[in-house]
Amino acid sequence: MSLSQQWAEARPKVAGLHFDSGACSRQSLAVIDTVAAHARHEAEVGGYVAAEAAAPVLAAGRAAIAALAGLDPADVVFTTGSNHSLDLLLGSWPGPRTLACLPGEFGPNLAVMAANGFQVRALPVDGDGRVDLDEAARALATDPPALVHFTALASHRGVAQPLSEMVAVCRSAGIPIVVDAAQAFGHLDCNVGPDAIYSSSRKWLAGPRGVGFLAVGPELAARLQRRFPPASWDLPVTVLQSFEHGEHNAATRIGYSVALGEYLAAGQELVRGRLAEVGRTARQALSGVPGWRVVEGTDEPTAITTLEPTDGADPAAVRAWLIAERGIVTTACELARAPFEMAKPVLRVSPHVDTTAEDLEQFAEVLRDVP
Ligand SMILES: *Cc1c(COP(=O)(O)O)cnc(C)c1O
Repeated sequence: MSLSQQWAEARPKVAGLHFDSGACSRQSLAVIDTVAAHARHEAEVGGYVAAEAAAPVLAAGRAAIAALAGLDPADVVFTTGSNHSLDLLLGSWPGPRTLACLPGEFGPNLAVMAANGFQVRALPVDGDGRVDLDEAARALATDPPALVHFTALASHRGVAQPLSEMVAVCRSAGIPIVVDAAQAFGHLDCNVGPDAIYSSSRKWLAGPRGVGFLAVGPELAARLQRRFPPASWDLPVTVLQSFEHGEHNAATRIGYSVALGEYLAAGQELVRGRLAEVGRTARQALSGVPGWRVVEGTDEPTAITTLEPTDGADPAAVRAWLIAERGIVTTACELARAPFEMAKPVLRVSPHVDTTAEDLEQFAEVLRDVP
């Protein structure tokens, strides 16, 4: 059976067309059943006892994340998602609070950076918003920030950033690199051993909502300062452990661990290759639709395609119409999503590996008819 068929058959049948994996992918039946079974187990034996019994599944989840990121399972903590992870990390940052990031940085990340008192400067990029590695190396050497925050794949544009090359640039400049892999995890190769990396379960990994992870390598972890309780309390808890402390929905972490296992079993290279293929097919199908311009180059190796209106269409209104009238789910990306890069709101199409060329052709036809 092909990967597409396998992916489709592992899930409930989709109502309409789902092109919204960049926001929230469709969970598998195994993940859904696991989450429900854990809730049932909590009612049977007690929430804390059930969580202890699930420890091996959670350990497998952390090991999968570590393997995909090029870090150690002990470096990984579960969080409620990407923004939460970034806030935990920046809130514990030692020393000067300056960082360099892409001009296309995710708007909510910029808010977390500001809330933690970080001064932000832009990395040099080309016309597509892709980092210029030579210029970046020069800028980082001339006036080094305390860290580089690197969003390996943006939410508003399907341009794959040169992640492993950027990690090398930061290494040779002696600057820690923190990777936002909200869109990149399970989509691009993230096995780069960064200083820190984080992502969300519900996006390309197709796990439950409300869960994610933060992984911090040992060197950086040793430098972080606990936000609370103050370090002087001297409790035998590491900074990373202190990140884990909140009350959480254990079932979602267990479900995420199952989704990670399914992803690894499907074969990460196979999934990445198929996502790139689906992205290419989408751009080919959508490039001729009047009133819209495909932003990405056809061969960008991602499954995120964005359409910029050329004739005054409003992506938010079009998204709402597609859901209400055709059962087709896409995303409208407003300027706030990348306030220093986007010139116009875009309609984002983010299909997963089970999307067929026919689905995309059908969508292109519908888009021609949107009133
Ligand atoms: C979705 C997203 C986030 C935020 O993820 P949450 O799980 O909603 O906190 C951060 N960065 C990028 C690039 C995203 O696409």
